[in-house]
Amino acid sequence: MVLGNYKSAVAARSTDKGILSASQDGGIVTQLFAFALDEGIIDGAIVAGQGAEPWMPEPVVATTRAELFAARGTRYTISPNMALIKEATRSYGLDKVGIVGTPCQMQGLRKAQLYPIGMRDVPDKIALAIGIFCMENFPYQGLETMVEDHCTVKMESAVKMDIGKGKFSVYTERGGLSQIPLKLTHKYEQPGCHVCLDYVSNLADVSTGSVGTPDGWSTVFVRTKVGDSVWARAVDAGCFETKPIEDVKPGLELVTKLATDKITKNQKTVEARASFGVKADGSGKALRNPYL
Ligand code: FAD
Ligand code: SF4
Repeated sequence: MVLGNYKSAVAARSTDKGILSASQDGGIVTQLFAFALDEGIIDGAIVAGQGAEPWMPEPVVATTRAELFAARGTRYTISPNMALIKEATRSYGLDKVGIVGTPCQMQGLRKAQLYPIGMRDVPDKIALAIGIFCMENFPYQGLETMVEDHCTVKMESAVKMDIGKGKFSVYTERGGLSQIPLKLTHKYEQPGCHVCLDYVSNLADVSTGSVGTPDGWSTVFVRTKVGDSVWARAVDAGCFETKPIEDVKPGLELVTKLATDKITKNQKTVEARASFGVKADGSGKALRNPYL
């Protein structure tokens, strides 16, 4: 159950080289939204666009492929995508909204759909929720310190950042690579991430991350009826190259291990905080997706 409910799990990558060129992993998020936009499944998607500072995300409502493409890649800091939900339905007038987010944002989304206090236009207009895997996140100043002080790279010179195999990596525009061990980045993590009990976006329609599959590919969990329908149509249309997850290394074994490690470690923090009176929503019970 640490991986949540899912109908299928596959290894996949976009067949569009243009998408892959600047996506974080297999281009699953951008490709699936682009297909959904083309097919009228969504009118637009809330993604993490470029903010005021280098690598500072700012949520945007992307209604064109160009806007989706401009938001490709991972920004390892908070992009409050949920904050645009009302804007998307009201100011932009979208009836079918796509949204990408971290596991906590998928939880916020489902809560807003189930208890739409101040969100009465929203619940029926969420057409596709894509969740990304997430072990931890960083405040912008923390990310800047990791990149500029530890990796000695200017934020504006970085072209990609990545976390994997125990390292935080920064790729530069001149082809350089600077890496630091994750033991140096832990102190910059958001404290809220230490009570987070979801690694793989259990509540999304489709969730994806790099862990479990080779470089340039993604692990994809298809979770809900909506997700299943959109994913099947996109695969039929030739948007994705797929392989059975059992045929790739390291596969679901590593995803399961990391999800278990995250939940076990953070459950201890939940309990420690509860012992001095801080109540968190950390029952430890597996979260159930109400949209299955
Ligand atoms: P792309 O096609 O490149 O699209 C990525 C989409 O995510 C874009 O729409 C972009 O706007 C949006 N996005 C970028 N940054 C953010 C953000 N901060 N918040 C919300 N949306 C954003 N994967 C793992 O396998 N293991 C991990 O431990 C892990 N940790 C992560 C931690 C963070 C903070 C984030 C943001 C992502 C993490 N990921 C992790 C997910 C991984 O980095 C990729 O985002 C995911 O595999 C999707 O890649 P893609 O090529 O399909 O997406
Ligand atoms: Fe959200 Fe959890 Fe990721 Fe922190 S670790 S950003 S709380 S999903």
